[in-house]
Amino acid sequence: MDRKQAQEQINALRELLNQYGYEYYVLDKPSVPDAEYDQKLQELQKLEAEYPDLVTPDSPTQRVGGEPLDAFEKVQHNIPMLSLGNAFNEQDLRDFARRAAEGTDDPVSFVCELKIDGLAVSLTYENGKFVRGATRGDGTTGEDITSNLRTIRSMPLTIKETETLEIRGEAFMPHKSFLSLNKAREERGEEPFANPRNAAAGSLRQLDPKIAARRNLDIFLYGVGEWENSELTSHSERLKKLEELGFKTNPEWKKCDTIEEVMEYVEYWTNERPNLNYEIDGIVIKVDDLDQQEELGYTAKSPRWAIAYKFPAEEVVTELTDIELSV
Ligand code: NAD
Repeated sequence: MDRKQAQEQINALRELLNQYGYEYYVLDKPSVPDAEYDQKLQELQKLEAEYPDLVTPDSPTQRVGGEPLDAFEKVQHNIPMLSLGNAFNEQDLRDFARRAAEGTDDPVSFVCELKIDGLAVSLTYENGKFVRGATRGDGTTGEDITSNLRTIRSMPLTIKETETLEIRGEAFMPHKSFLSLNKAREERGEEPFANPRNAAAGSLRQLDPKIAARRNLDIFLYGVGEWENSELTSHSERLKKLEELGFKTNPEWKKCDTIEEVMEYVEYWTNERPNLNYEIDGIVIKVDDLDQQEELGYTAKSPRWAIAYKFPAEEVVTELTDIELSV
């Protein structure tokens, strides 16, 4: 392929990915499976790596998420809410571990977590009180969805210490809620949601909080944005502290000292995934030590100290069994 053909191919892929991204992030209504989007994005990444001068700042490879909707107040993220680099196989994970080891002096430990397939949100507490909740949006500007987030019962409105902090997590729709919601929608002649992720995003981006309240959403907190006075030195300590403060964290996380342990965790959850009552689309692996995280730093789009291993595409859950309709 010559340069001109590469440019044409790049333009075509960008146009397609922008269209898919708009449908997914803005409309909450994807027209293609995630695996197809990921594959096209990889094709574009490969071409851009061969022709680095053709990379533009507005390329889908350089951008996080989608534009925030005008219907909502905007929220600025002082610390950007980034995406994650992807790994699709063992070699990608080993490469990640090698880069982490090369980028720091001391041995690296990792924390493995389930990658919850929902909507990334930021929660701000001032003096221990929940004051603001936002979507990730384009990473720097999100949508104010405070009233909708307040309806999630597992989310504390007051925390145990009078801390001021901004934390991050994933709001999601458990399988049971998703299946009963879609059944009710179909009975009313409405179009069902494509998957629990889009149902969760669609519910939280409703202007009427009563709708979100009826949708039985849940949330897991997994990270910290701004937290001035924290003396914690590792991600695992942060997870424990979040739990102590009354936040719901995912209980399945595990500290791993070697990449072999990481691989075992990945394999275990690849098999166990169907037994969870919520959707996961991969495993997130994070360098545990916060100083090492800082040393490794960030690309424009994602931290260098974390990676998302993506499961191969699988069948969507469609069975509905003995579920009480509550919508
Ligand atoms: P990503 O989903 O690959 O990874 C980043 C996100 O992971 C974070 O923002 C956070 O929301 C989430 N996450 C879940 N559990 C986490 C944990 N324990 N720790 C940290 N983060 C956790 O990246 P992305 O930028 O959100 O979106 C890309 C995804 O969207 C891909 O899966 C892609 O296939 C999909 N997508 C699909 C379409 C489509 O048309 N089907 C279009 C655009 C994007």
